[in-house]
Parts: sequence; structure tokens; C-alpha cells
Amino acid sequence: MQKEFDYADVTLIAPDAAMSPAVHGGRAKCLQRLVRLGMPVPTTVALSFAAVRKIAAGEVPDINAILQPFGPEPLLSVRPSSQSPDWGGPGAILNVGMCDSRYEAMCGQIGEQAATSLYLRFIQSYATHVARLDDEAFDLPEIPDRAALARVMQAYEEEAEERFPQDVRRQLSDILGSMSRAWEGTSARLLRRAKGAPPDAGLGLVVQAMALGVGQGECGSGVIQFVDPSTGQPQVRGRYLSQSQGRDALSAPSGALYLTRDPRGPSLEEQLPETFGDLIAYGDRTRTRLREEMQLEFTLDGGQLAILDAVRVARTSRATVRIAVDLALDGVISPEEAVTRVDPAALSELLHRQVDPAASRDRVTRGIAASPGAATGRIVLTANDAQASAARGEDCILVRRETSSEDIRGMHAAVGVLTMRGGVTSHAAVIGRGLGLPCVVGASDLRIDRKHKVLIAADGRQFREGDVVTVDGTTGDVLAGEPAMLEAALDEAFQQLLTWADDFRDIGVRANADTPADAQTARNFAAEGIGLCRTEHMFFEGERLSVMREMIFADKGEDRTAVLERLLPMQRADFMDLFEIMAGHPVCIRLFDPPLHEFLPSDNAGIRELADVLDLQLSDVTRRIEELEEYNPMLGMRGVRLGITVPEIYEMQARAIFEATIAASRKGAAVVPEIMIPLVSAMREVELVKNRLDAIAVKVRNETGASFTYRLGVMVETPRAALRAGDIALHSAFLSFGTNDLTQMTYGLSRDDAGRFMSAYVQQRVYDEDPFHTLDLEGVGELLTMGAERARDAVPDIVLSICGEHGGARSAIEFSRQRGLNYVSCSPFRVPIARLSAAQLALADRRSSAGLEDV
Ligand code: PEP
Ligand code: MG
Repeated sequence: MQKEFDYADVTLIAPDAAMSPAVHGGRAKCLQRLVRLGMPVPTTVALSFAAVRKIAAGEVPDINAILQPFGPEPLLSVRPSSQSPDWGGPGAILNVGMCDSRYEAMCGQIGEQAATSLYLRFIQSYATHVARLDDEAFDLPEIPDRAALARVMQAYEEEAEERFPQDVRRQLSDILGSMSRAWEGTSARLLRRAKGAPPDAGLGLVVQAMALGVGQGECGSGVIQFVDPSTGQPQVRGRYLSQSQGRDALSAPSGALYLTRDPRGPSLEEQLPETFGDLIAYGDRTRTRLREEMQLEFTLDGGQLAILDAVRVARTSRATVRIAVDLALDGVISPEEAVTRVDPAALSELLHRQVDPAASRDRVTRGIAASPGAATGRIVLTANDAQASAARGEDCILVRRETSSEDIRGMHAAVGVLTMRGGVTSHAAVIGRGLGLPCVVGASDLRIDRKHKVLIAADGRQFREGDVVTVDGTTGDVLAGEPAMLEAALDEAFQQLLTWADDFRDIGVRANADTPADAQTARNFAAEGIGLCRTEHMFFEGERLSVMREMIFADKGEDRTAVLERLLPMQRADFMDLFEIMAGHPVCIRLFDPPLHEFLPSDNAGIRELADVLDLQLSDVTRRIEELEEYNPMLGMRGVRLGITVPEIYEMQARAIFEATIAASRKGAAVVPEIMIPLVSAMREVELVKNRLDAIAVKVRNETGASFTYRLGVMVETPRAALRAGDIALHSAFLSFGTNDLTQMTYGLSRDDAGRFMSAYVQQRVYDEDPFHTLDLEGVGELLTMGAERARDAVPDIVLSICGEHGGARSAIEFSRQRGLNYVSCSPFRVPIARLSAAQLALADRRSSAGLEDV
């Protein structure tokens, strides 16, 4: 586009001038749009990025060309115009052109006090920003009179060792030089890089005739916008202050008018209804024609309204959603554009309570932000205490070195979780995300003194059990006390945006959900099914744990079956609940995965209690526990290996699933359960399990006379399973890539220990990112690609998906779309984010195939 024009270095902003945000910056282009919309914008000249670069390099600007449109004795403002307003730029300088002779003339025109304040203001900006003098000497005096002006002039002369420049050409040239060089400075570069600006981001400058805002008749300045920046609800907001300039009205302690009628005080609407009406009309015009909620900066000069600038209204994530949806509902933008305007990451702020960004934060430490949202509660150090606290109705934060399956009930009872160890796929992180529970993990500089029940921070501060802390799982901060919070906002705008997103999305989104509560959350967020139900937690609850332990201690298969029969009705009820909540949407149940050792007590008291319950000698119990101990349990007897060597567990689970299928299908929508086998590494494992499950299905059909089908699938989470996906696919209706274990095994990197050194690894660029957090597209991605291709070659219509923690992330969704996967499955609270990301990716593809630029 840029090549069509031969852009001049200096351009008068007129309706037909050749201007582009990529050449002159966003502010210059926006001013041209306001001019085209017939708004009273003072004469403005734009300097292009190229012009500013030359000035920064020492070239003298063509001052005559710049000043030409302003006539003799101009009074000007200079403002930055970077490509995106978010990238910042040097501060504006007003009243350029003030000099002694101009001052005397203006004393006659607008009064001495008004003229003095203009001159003082200019000297102050020039001295500190251009001459770079010490700002203390140039504080604005309380009373702007001639004596104060003389003092400030003298200070300038002493500090700068020259007279204050009197020639507008010299003033402007110096100002342009100083602003251009400021943009090239290291801190400005770092700042804008942090905001996403490219290294070569340009700066334009706009030079505008001053609309004074001070003087005779109604003079003043103000700022108006038409939405509430926190909620995005329509509302006229802003202030107007007589005899003022710039954004003074917003900081005036008193005397500023409200804009619309307001019980708190007088308003512009009452005092200057015509001006107010014009502003409302201009607001409406900018909204519909610039297709955005804008904030207008305006002045009145002798009653004459001028629009000096318009900027996009700054807004919270919640307002971002509401504004985009309202613009689309009003037909100003398309639903498609509304969907592209919201950053999916911003949605996560709406799904959870957050620490109010305006609140002060007393940070105790920073760990890994593992599950977003913030929660405040009293410190408890054990899962039992968390349950006791919940029973008392007291919010608590469960603080553990790391969590294990035994802590799950405590996690359910807590409002937030903090661990000293672990990374983003550690137990605490995975369960926290599943429950929507704010969670910070890997806060390794905190110590727990169990004996005295205190938590000791790196700075020596101590927090006792019962003290109030806040975990901020969005930032990873642990804060002392209770800062102000913002509530979650799942309002109708949020729902509408996601409904639109679903219209554009071309990959499925399911949820990882283990409990009825998870499943309900998944449905509330419109997940298309459950992509992974981890069943092991079901065995930790109440009496089930004792039955499990009894089963582990049984020597023979028949004994194990007999014990497991007691678990059967409970498992059946678990699955019934899930099927009912999911109302015919697919539910993928993963068979038992963890090593049995996890179910056994680890302390003496627990072992004694178990010996009592099982009526065994303490030494027998200890021996059995030792027998089950493994050097490397995550690579040991777990998953399908257990399914093959202790088949009774899978058989009981399969029966429970089939019986629940029959019962749920009788009550509601027909259910075709999906059963997934974990930790497979060889085709024969699948064959063996399949045969056993088929046999159970036949038995259940014969016993009940009911007919049902099921789909058997494999979790591809070992590198070998990915490599042998072609064979494995032959016995599978679906394959789901478990990217947590696949990452662990591809890197040979423990999920639970990586947190200890991950930050050093990322800091030293060994890894670009934590691979448990951001899917490693190069290595793990290659295995996924191979696995998907080999599976599809063998069974073209096999259903493929990702169900590791990466499933909800944009990069993983993009990868999954490119490889033709059918769906991703992620924690319930990430479902909305995944739906929006998937829609944006599909729309970006559509635009690029239509040869359009990104919106
Ligand atoms: C995985 O390994 O990616 C997975 C989803 O299973 P889990 O996290 O339960 O090991
Ligand atoms: Mg796994």
C-alpha cells in the first residue's frame, strides 16, 4: 500500500492528503479522519517517520515548510504519533512560539494572568524536555505573575547560559530534534519493545495550531468519552475546566465541570448545552466512522469548539469484550471483527476474581503462575486443616511443599493453593486449573517450618498458620493480607462473543473434566464434550481408599475382583453423573493411570491404621509397601502396565462404564462412551486390553439384554506410541496425544522436578519457554506430526486430539489445526480461551487465503 504514494516528509493534514499510519503514525492518521468527518480540528502538519529519523540523525528540518500553513506568529503544539498509541512516545509540548513580544501582545488580548501561565508553561516544558535542565528550578509558581515569570526566565538563563530562545523557528527546530532523539534512546526502545513494538518502529510528529483554552469569552479544555472504561457500558464520562489546557480538567482538584448532568455538581450539559450536543454528535460520528470507542480531547476558545485529538479509550479486559460486542451488535463492525479484537488471554481475567490493578501489593514472593485468578484466605498447612477451615466457613489457602493425590480433598476445600515445588504441569497446577482454583507453584524461596507452623519468606518475614495471604495465580505473586479484588465477569457480552467465535471455529474444543463439578463448568463454557476424564482421583475419596488398599493387599485375582466389586456401584454412579451432565456429548474416560504405591500410607501412623483395618501384622504391611516401591514410579508400573498385570481394575472400570452407559441412555440422550488406555507403548498392549474390554461388554450385554457400543482409544504419551502410531491406530477409534507425559519423556525431564531449574534454563535460553507450558513444536511437535501422519495413513478416519495441558494454548491449537487434528481438550476454565483462539486462527487463515491483511 505504501508504495502507491510518494509520501512527503511534511504533510498538511487535509482530507485528500496522502497519509498512512505506517508512515505518519496513528495520531496523524486519526486526525485526518476527524478532518474528513468534518470536525473542527485546528490546522495540523504531520512529519513522517522518515522525516523524524533524519532529524534524529542530525539533519535540520525544513522549518519553513512546517510553519508555512500556520501564518505569521504561530502558537503551536507538538505531539508524538507512533504507529500504535500503545508504543508511547515523548510527551506533548504546548504553546510553542511564546516569546517576550508575543507575551506582551497576548497580555492585551487574553489578560496578563492567562498569558503569563501560557508562557510559564512553555518555558517549563522547554527547559526540562528540550534544554534538559534540572526540573526543580522550573516548578510552576502558585501565582502566575510577572515577578514569577522574571524569576523563571532568570533561572533559565543561569542554568542554560543563554537567553530563552525567542524565535519560533529555533524553538520548533530544537523541540523536533529533542523529541526525535528521545525516541531513539535506549530506555524508550526497551519500553516499546516490551509493549510489542518491532525494533524498527517509527515515530511521526504532529505540529498543530494551538486552540488556547485560556482567554476572553468561554475558554477551557476537556476530555470526553462515551463508555465506562472498567465495564464498557455506555456512559458519558470526562471533565471540562474553564481557563485550562491539555488534560488539566482531569487532574483539577475542583472547579472542573461534569459533562453530563450529575448529582455531584454542575455540568457542561447544563451550562453549555450546545457545546455538549456537538460533543455527543462528534462522539457518535467517531464511534460509527472510526469503528471504535474514542476519547476526544477538546477546547473552547472564545466559545468556539475545537477537537484536538482522539485516542482509543483505555479499557479493562472486561470493557474490551463489551465494547467489541456492542459495536458489532450496533452494526458498526462485523461479529467476525469483534472476535478478532479480543485477546484470548484477556478472557482469563474475566473468568476469575483478580487483584484490582489499582490496589497496592505487599509481595511476599513470586512463584510460577499456575492457575489464574486471585484468592485470599488464612494459611493452612494440611489438607485436613483445609477441610476443617471450610467446615467453619473460613476461606483458606492450602500451603504445601508439593501436593499429591491425598491433598485433593483439601484442595477442594481451599480457595487457593501455594506450593514451594513443582512447575506448570505439577499435580497442584493441573488440579488447580481443573477446579478453577487460583494456584501458585514453585515458590522456592519460601520455607515451611512445620514444627512451629510458620511460613518464612526470603526477607525473613514470618507468616503463621491462620495469617491472611493472597495468592495471585495470574501473576504468580503471593501477597500479604487482602488487597482489593475485581469480581469475575461472565456477562452476556462474554457469552455473545464466544457464540460468534463458535461460528468461525473449525477445530473442536473439549474439556478435561474429572468430577461432576468440572463437567458442569465444562458445559457452562460450552465444551463439546469431555476429552479426558482422569479416573484415579475417584479412588481416593472416603471409604474408596480403604477398599483400594484392601485390593492392593489381596494376593489372588479372584480376591481382587471380590474387593473391587464394592467399588463398582460407586464408579458406576461417577460415570452416570458425567453422562447425565454431558447430555449426549462425548465423554472420554481414561482408565486407571497412577502407580498403586500412591494409594498406600507413607507415615507410621497410617501404616499402623492400615494394619488394623486389614487385620494384618505391621511387618506384613510394611513389607508389601516396600515391595510396591519403585525407583522411578512415573516410568514404572502404571497405566496400561497395571491394566495388563492387575487386569481386575480395568475390568471393574469397564463394567462400571458399560452399566452407566445403559442406565444413562435409558434416562436421556444415547451415550457412546469413549474409553482411553494410558501410557501405551506397544500395539500388543492395546490388543490385550481391547480383548478383555470386549469380553466384559459381551457379558454386560448378555446380562442386561441391552445393546450399546463403545469406542476404544489410546493415549499417545510415550515417544514409542507416537512412533508406532500406525500399528496402534489399527485397534483404536481415536488417539489422544498426552502432551504432558510426552513432553516429560521426550525431554527426559521430570514434570514434578523441572520447576527447580526451569527459570535458569529459560533465562539462559537453553529453552525458549518452559516446554510444559508452551508446546515444543520442534521436538515434541515432530513426534506429534509423525504420530498423526502414521495413524492417518493406517486409518484415515481415526479421530485425533491433544489432551495435555497445552491443549488450550494458542500455539498448540494452531499446530493441531495445521496437522488436521479433530479437537483439543483443556482444563474447563481454558475452554473459552481455546474457543476464541481457535476462531481467531480460522479467521486469520480465511483472510490470508482471501489475500487480505490482518484486521
Ligand atoms: C498427559 O500426560 O499429557 C496427560 C494428559 O495425562 P496426565 O497429565 O494425567 O499424565
Ligand atoms: Mg499422562
